[in-house]
Amino acid sequence: MELRALKELLAGSGLFVYEKSADEAQNTCVVMVRNGLDKCLAVAGEKADLFEGKEEGGIKFCPLSNENAAALGVLFPYTKPASHKGHKFTMGFGDRLGLATAGHVRAIAGHDIYPVFAQQSIRELNLTHRTFADIIAAAAFNVFQEGYKGGYGADGDHLKTKEEIKYALGAGCTMVTLDCSEHIDQQAAAYPQEKIDVMYAELPEATRTHYEELYLNKELPIIGRLSADDLKRIVVVFHDAIEHATDCYHYIDEIRTVDVDFELSIDETLTITTPAEHFVIGNELHLAHIVPISVAPHFSGAFEKGIEYAGDLNAFARDFVVHQEIADFFGYKLSLHSGSDKFAVFSTVGKVTKGHVHVKTAGTSWLEAMRVVAEVNPDLYRHAHKFALEHRHEAEKYYHVSTDVTEIPNIDLQNDAYLPEYMTLAASRQTVHITYGLLLEQPWFREEFFRTMAEHEEDYYAALVRHLGKHVRILTAENGI
Ligand code: ZN
Repeated sequence: MELRALKELLAGSGLFVYEKSADEAQNTCVVMVRNGLDKCLAVAGEKADLFEGKEEGGIKFCPLSNENAAALGVLFPYTKPASHKGHKFTMGFGDRLGLATAGHVRAIAGHDIYPVFAQQSIRELNLTHRTFADIIAAAAFNVFQEGYKGGYGADGDHLKTKEEIKYALGAGCTMVTLDCSEHIDQQAAAYPQEKIDVMYAELPEATRTHYEELYLNKELPIIGRLSADDLKRIVVVFHDAIEHATDCYHYIDEIRTVDVDFELSIDETLTITTPAEHFVIGNELHLAHIVPISVAPHFSGAFEKGIEYAGDLNAFARDFVVHQEIADFFGYKLSLHSGSDKFAVFSTVGKVTKGHVHVKTAGTSWLEAMRVVAEVNPDLYRHAHKFALEHRHEAEKYYHVSTDVTEIPNIDLQNDAYLPEYMTLAASRQTVHITYGLLLEQPWFREEFFRTMAEHEEDYYAALVRHLGKHVRILTAENGI
């Protein structure tokens, strides 16, 4: 069947047709349609058997299941995630709801950005009871709905073990962000030198000799000379993490079936990453013939979830320039995590990296969904807002936040028109930001929330275009991206 014929059949069906989705391959036509609030694929033609669904009047109606996402990928490879190697500006758009990617597609329109639409950490998956297969399927259906053919990546974010890597790659992730924080002695930055000396002396002689020959009594690129004390501390803090990274990298190489982008993240540490630490880590990876696509140091200042950067912007810029020099020296990109809403640093990040950078966002798309709820379903927002306030302390186990809940105006004293303002106040933003998992677990919230979002999907896309579009605009200005 031809696409035109399928559309004609659908025209009389009373179903809403997502016009941009219509596509054909291998004598098979597929269109995304909506019946009331339920979306499905309408399939007709030779390969309809690839899909699971119900036949009605010559059209097979197929639910948005993970199996049907895989079938879609067979017909239309652009709906499957792929490596972002070779792309200059790459950006992660985590979508905890499975609803946001269509808005993200529109937010990057007109920019030369390679998006990583599927991006979740194990923590996010656990809190939302989703799997990597679920998030990749959601991204695939959104991409198809929008007729977006520019390619996208899937990031297994903050993976810590080989088991987690295996899980992510098995589900189709094309990027691994390795989080080495459990192999970093988080307290060591504060240890007295005597303690560092003892710990260093306990390392195998070959390890010590390796580091001393490479880094002592030498003028090193970018960072100059390293003192023996500094080197010992770096080795004590990071040696185990470097070994873990090397080990995991080789493991990825062994089990991967497609190209995989490898990012090393050392951002979830208690102290900021010094240039000397970054240089030694970069050099050790280089000596092990590992070229990560990106490295995420812990930059100076506070990058808290869902709110603006807090800290000394000039100190950040000075620091960032040196980290960029190190990244250039070893041939990878810097990666900025918790990039949601950090408008104060975006301009510097874009300028210093010349747009050769990876930036991750996630929670801010959930907050935009809650802004829509505040606008169109005030009763649900009020209920959710109070629940979030009551349960914030539980979510604080997973997320470090510093805003003060006593600064949040009492919602019982506000009219409905004011409610969207809660999504601009830092304290209420963070409260709603970190309690997404708890909220989405409540049946009273879940059902009405998803119904509200389905009824107002265009409002959600518009909110994402405005808000993520602002991220993109400031990050890419002047770089011709
Ligand atoms: Zn991170």
